[in-house]
Amino acid sequence: MGRHVVVVGAGPAGLGAASGALRAGARVTLLDAAERPGGQIHRTAPVELGGPRLELAWPGLAWWAESSVWAFERSGDGAPLVHVLRGGERFALEPDALVLAPGAHDRVLPFPGWDLPGVYTAGAAQALAKGECLAVGEKVVVAGSGPFLLPVAASLLEAGSRVVEVLEANPASTVLRGWGRPPWQVSKVGELAGYAALLARHRVPVRMGRTVVEARGDGRVEEVVTARLRADWSVVPGSERSHAVDAVCVSHGFSPRLELAVAAGCAVDGFVRVDGDQRTSAAGVFAAGEVTGIAGAPAAKAEGLLAGWIAGGGSPRVPALRRRRDQGRAFARRLAAAHPIGDAWKEWLRPGTVVCRCEEATYGDLCRAAGDQAANAPRAVRLATRAGLGPCQGRVCGPTVAEILGSPPAHHRPIAQPIRLGELAAPVREATPDER
Ligand SMILES: Cc1cc2nc3c(=O)[nH]c(=O)nc-3n(C[C@H](O)[C@H](O)[C@H](O)COP(=O)(O)OP(=O)(O)OC[C@H]3O[C@@H](n4cnc5c(N)ncnc54)[C@H](O)[C@@H]3O)c2cc1C
Repeated sequence: MGRHVVVVGAGPAGLGAASGALRAGARVTLLDAAERPGGQIHRTAPVELGGPRLELAWPGLAWWAESSVWAFERSGDGAPLVHVLRGGERFALEPDALVLAPGAHDRVLPFPGWDLPGVYTAGAAQALAKGECLAVGEKVVVAGSGPFLLPVAASLLEAGSRVVEVLEANPASTVLRGWGRPPWQVSKVGELAGYAALLARHRVPVRMGRTVVEARGDGRVEEVVTARLRADWSVVPGSERSHAVDAVCVSHGFSPRLELAVAAGCAVDGFVRVDGDQRTSAAGVFAAGEVTGIAGAPAAKAEGLLAGWIAGGGSPRVPALRRRRDQGRAFARRLAAAHPIGDAWKEWLRPGTVVCRCEEATYGDLCRAAGDQAANAPRAVRLATRAGLGPCQGRVCGPTVAEILGSPPAHHRPIAQPIRLGELAAPVREATPDER
């Protein structure tokens, strides 16, 4: 048998990587913390699971569901030892190459009232609408930035909500300039045109250069305040309008899940840095999908295929795979240009606005700690306010706190996923040949 490749994450990128490595003749262990393969896009739409062919019965492939990778350990020059928790048992896998495909989570910027019940991340609202056929509210505003707002609004309409308006924070000039960059990705543009047509049929206005800057209500959201924004996302004075709603869905793009890559020793610059072969800076470690750039499922799969193929020992002369990967990267650049996050969003905050929801640290707490001469280093500010140190370990507020403090986000954790002390103390069990 050829090389052993461990792939972490069974979203489009991880499935692509497993398939690429198997085609190169490698033996593959594909792991995911979730019960089923498919990643974020299929998790929000279980009815579509029969659609894409998730070929997990290939010879040479071991599929490990509900298995979390929580640490890596380096001993030699090759790929690191991969520590896995599966069904309460600890395993340590020793691959020849490791492909990281842990994806991204949806990002939400804080604003006054964003912590009221009735304010949802767009991803959560979509999961409820598509997965459970549940509408988060009767009258809903969808706001933020990025093309993801359109499928979310479409899912809400299908679940029976009235979508009052969809608000893209960037002005039309920025969005059109970004999307106008060649080359075009016809399938994505067609998909977005389909959502736009659905919204038009339901007479849902899509406004650009406007966003939700406040949610108000007694115990839950009853009203939102929207405002026109300049290109840097500062509010145009006097442009505020309020609407009665019972739910708000917000999304400001996606944040890559960098904890595993940082734990494996990979260089990151906002995303995991990879070379033309999807190799990271850490020996024996490859990365693919949204952890290297946000470009949607087809791009993630194309990166995964190339990463898996090379990790599995395939020949580097694969022009068709490289072309597909390059198209995905071009799409990522287009998305980033069309839907940037304007620096002036912090102007929406008030001193009492909660920034870190786990520890209830407010914008005022962060500003006070940052202004304190004795504790103005970002690490000291985090320790003083506890921002980012709660149960989510900064996965939600990390990029926001970093932008407020003007420092890089803190991703380094010796233990990348929560693990119980009893599990940590348990002996490592060797995988049987069937499991491998
Ligand atoms: C909430 C949400 C909803 C979305 N809805 C849509 C949509 O409707 N339409 C659309 O075009 N795009 C949608 N997207 C974007 C789309 O999901 C991505 O483009 C695509 O899934 C990226 O693929 P990926 O393989 O890089 O990551 P993902 O699909 O995110 O897969 C990563 C996988 O890694 C696993 N993982 C992470 N860490 C670990 C660990 N430590 N141990 C084990 N497993 C781990 C996760 O469980 C996950 O299954 C959505 C994204 C999100 C976040």
